[in-house]
Amino acid sequence: MRELEGQVAVVTGGSRGIGRAIALELSRAGASVAVVARSEKRAQDTVDALEGRGAAFGCDVADASRCADLVQAAEERLGPISILVNNAGITRDNVLVRMKDEDWDAVMSTNLRGAFNTTRAVARGMMKRRSGRIINIASVVGLTGNRGQANYAASKAGLVGFTKSVAQELAARGVLANVVAPGFIETDMTAELPDEAREALLGRIPLERFGAPEDVAGAVRFLAGPAASYMTGQVLVVDGGMVM
Ligand code: NAP
Repeated sequence: MRELEGQVAVVTGGSRGIGRAIALELSRAGASVAVVARSEKRAQDTVDALEGRGAAFGCDVADASRCADLVQAAEERLGPISILVNNAGITRDNVLVRMKDEDWDAVMSTNLRGAFNTTRAVARGMMKRRSGRIINIASVVGLTGNRGQANYAASKAGLVGFTKSVAQELAARGVLANVVAPGFIETDMTAELPDEAREALLGRIPLERFGAPEDVAGAVRFLAGPAASYMTGQVLVVDGGMVM
């Protein structure tokens, strides 16, 4: 089924990992996809693999004015944006007492401020058209906290509060906002975890495997499509049952 035929999606952090899988999945569902990463060249690699129309954009989501330009450029190339997936995210892990100001600021700027920048930039158009889907990729650690990730967990918890507020503000205009909270997914972000830590984590996952980017992409496709038209302000956890 190509339930997103004729729609235009923006996927931030779409050059690799979860974002790339989301871009490919939305494309399979029929959407044209604007793939965003700091490196336009890396974003283009994803666009080359899409099934239908798409375009690559280089944009640091932490920069508000570049996000406004991005939305304008994407709409000129592909048409009015109906789906925004805020997936760009980084980690700068450290225990609290050793965490540097710049580690805190970098994570907040990309993970939380970035979602604010892009969401504000698309909101007016979506409201005017009385339809739109905003899907923010948080993390289970935003719900539980995690040692060594005070900055990252705070940014992801912030994303949940942000999404619920946006959901309430925009519901009357037909714009829905939801969160997907992945558990441990095999990507570059998690590749460097030592074997011991991986084993310990695996023991906490009832489905007895780490997630694949495609597991998250399936949840995003659902939230972007007609089957989720009565859902807003929700957190969909995709973690193999780790957090219940
Ligand atoms: P990843 O493999 O490290 O990919 C991150 C993506 O974000 C890349 O495409 C990167 O491209 C882009 N990016 C980073 N900073 C950016 C910025 N300032 N502006 C624009 N793009 C930026 O990460 P991932 O594992 O796929 O994670 C994707 C999302 O899922 C993140 O929000 C992450 O927090 C969340 N998540 C991941 C896991 C997991 O286990 N992997 C679990 C829970 C949640 P460039 O480097 O070219 O900019």
